[in-house]
Amino acid sequence: MSAVLTARDLHRHYEVSRGLFKPSALVRALNGVSFELEAGRTLAVVGESGCGKSTLARALTLIEEPSSGSLQIAGREVAGASKDERKQLRRDVQMVFQNPYASLNPRQKVGDQLAEPLLINTGLSRSERRERVQAMMQQVGLRPEHYQRYPHMFSGGQRQRIALARAMMLTPKVLVADEPTSALDVSIQAQVLNLFMDLQERYDTGYVFISHNLAVVRHVANDVLVMYLGRPVEMGPGERIYERPLHPYTRALLSATPAIHPDPARPKIKIAGELPNPLDPPSGCAFHKRCPYATERCRVDVPELRLLDARQVACHNVETISD
Ligand code: SF4
Ligand code: MG
Repeated sequence: MSAVLTARDLHRHYEVSRGLFKPSALVRALNGVSFELEAGRTLAVVGESGCGKSTLARALTLIEEPSSGSLQIAGREVAGASKDERKQLRRDVQMVFQNPYASLNPRQKVGDQLAEPLLINTGLSRSERRERVQAMMQQVGLRPEHYQRYPHMFSGGQRQRIALARAMMLTPKVLVADEPTSALDVSIQAQVLNLFMDLQERYDTGYVFISHNLAVVRHVANDVLVMYLGRPVEMGPGERIYERPLHPYTRALLSATPAIHPDPARPKIKIAGELPNPLDPPSGCAFHKRCPYATERCRVDVPELRLLDARQVACHNVETISD
């Protein structure tokens, strides 16, 4: 097994003005994120909006530079890469957005849009490109006559298939998908998720799947990373985390989705209140104002990630609250 994506202690901080006479604030949108993704595996990144998922997605796809930390794509360090190396690294990490329109040009025929990455990045002839595009269209369930159509002539689900096909044209090592099914009808979400999984199997692509909903990624995630206000709070194998979430925030996210077999021994946790203002994050554990298990220590000490029950978790009180 080989790592296609390695993040080590990624930080992304930026200054935000708070008004004319106030000092600017430092927002820690990413605050120490580390993980390793192997080929053919899926890491689900989960949290409420504002937890840092989108910042992480932009850092992983080289849209935004991290403030510090290391990012390696297939073993190659991104920081300090030359312009040409960066171009290659960008090819290796593709992105699929929540709204497929975001990545499709409304005025260009779908076939031409799919051929474009090949035109820019390969020396394939016109007929070879066309052949590759037709093959990819077939793999995502589109028909040859769709080549000549424009994006608006497709349903939402078909458009997401097209966006996925486009992202896969150069067989990237990594695909980052930001809520790729949440804009779709529930009835077709599963189909589109299955398509993601088919393509992963075929191309051995590593996936980073971003979602606000732990339940949605349950069937695709090998590993799960739960984030809160820019920090990882729990990370480990999906089966462990779904079976027995340890961090109160993870438990709250899982409680928010209806369980098929509710476990009476593990009471539901409701999250009180809203995500705190990232300009003015709480002291200690950033979750303490919403956590039913918060103790005095939580208001003061930032909990570090530690290894517990086959995953990493950042909570002072796990041992006393987990069952
Ligand atoms: Fe709750 Fe304290 Fe654990 Fe934070 S450290 S999740 S406030 S119990
Ligand atoms: Mg977001």
